[in-house]
Amino acid sequence: MAETWYWIRHPGTYAGNECDFGQLLTLALATPKAEQLTRLGYLVESPKPKQKIQCGECGGEFLSEADRDAHGRKRHQLRFASSDPVSDDERAEREEAALLERAPLYLEKTEATRR
Ligand SMILES: [Zn+2]
Repeated sequence: MAETWYWIRHPGTYAGNECDFGQLLTLALATPKAEQLTRLGYLVESPKPKQKIQCGECGGEFLSEADRDAHGRKRHQLRFASSDPVSDDERAEREEAALLERAPLYLEKTEATRR
């Protein structure tokens, strides 16, 4: 059975893994859940990626170096410690705002609005 590739458009827990923006995921199953997540903009179905950028810490695979680096700063702060004096809360707020701008969810496509 062919693998189905997805990249994460909205960070969260998928198939039991914490995933960040741009992270690649294979779901060996095209479940109704995956279909729904794709429709709402949480996941984007993708052809098998030509290149994958791997995180040296956890082995997660990403679409781009920028996405991998953002993941590293968020998940592996010791290794990617920066001199940015911004507090964690402030950073989280900024990330959320940037994410909503970059990848808004398709909340208008919920089941309720499909009727
Ligand atoms: Zn990692």
